[in-house]
Amino acid sequence: MPELPEVETVRRSLSPHVVGRRVLGVRSGTFPEVMGEDGIEANASRLVGRVIVDVRRRAKYLFLDLDDGASIMVHLRMTGRLVATPRATLPLRFEHLAIELDDGTDLRFADQRKFGRVLLVLPTDVRRLEGRLGPEPLARRFTAAGLASSLARRPGKLKSVLLDQRLIAGLGNIYVDEALFRSRLHPERAANGLSAHEVRRLHRAIRAVLREGVAYRGTTFSSFRDAEGAEGANQRNLRVYGRGKGGTCVRCDGLLSRIVVGGRGTTFCSRCQRHD
Ligand SMILES: [Zn+2]
Repeated sequence: MPELPEVETVRRSLSPHVVGRRVLGVRSGTFPEVMGEDGIEANASRLVGRVIVDVRRRAKYLFLDLDDGASIMVHLRMTGRLVATPRATLPLRFEHLAIELDDGTDLRFADQRKFGRVLLVLPTDVRRLEGRLGPEPLARRFTAAGLASSLARRPGKLKSVLLDQRLIAGLGNIYVDEALFRSRLHPERAANGLSAHEVRRLHRAIRAVLREGVAYRGTTFSSFRDAEGAEGANQRNLRVYGRGKGGTCVRCDGLLSRIVVGGRGTTFCSRCQRHD
């Protein structure tokens, strides 16, 4: 599932293809609900003629801002893909939507699992969403002190708390497991039981794994691609995620452990990440 680095990678690879382009038309595939309950036709009539002025990311959402103040909000969820491609390209596998741009480019959305959405939203919708999202972990206002005070109010398990988008926006299973390994924290520690030193270590690790994920253009295990169809390369940097079956710890050479925390598969080293 795409997390902050993957969505940021899509944003960077998409921007040069769509910013400044005018929408000429919208074609629908076999799943018109991808644009929400209004369906594609009602949305198409609002989209045609608009110019895309910017592509922004917030948490795991992409916003293609339009010249009338509205935005196209894209949530990739599990298997969603957003691709910029010449109009003559054959339909993608599981293509649900194509937004035709004035230079002959199609902005296409494909999604095998159909959990992803491409919604036309107004500034009021964006503000409502913003109220449910914590800080951007790569932004300056995400500080160790701020993280400490958020964690202090949460008695839950550390991993589950870090996955809560209201606390930090953009983290998911991959980068939480990686950040916990690098900060040597057990995923089932009580979030409000960390020392100030441990919180600083965690804060540093969260930023490090996300920065690396962005620098290597995302993690591709199966479906993730950027907006030009290229795979990410960050999978080779992962130290625990995806290595649970028989994998060994890069730090102590012990066998990695696999447990379930808050319903999510979790890989960690029980020697390096102690529960005390
Ligand atoms: Zn270890």
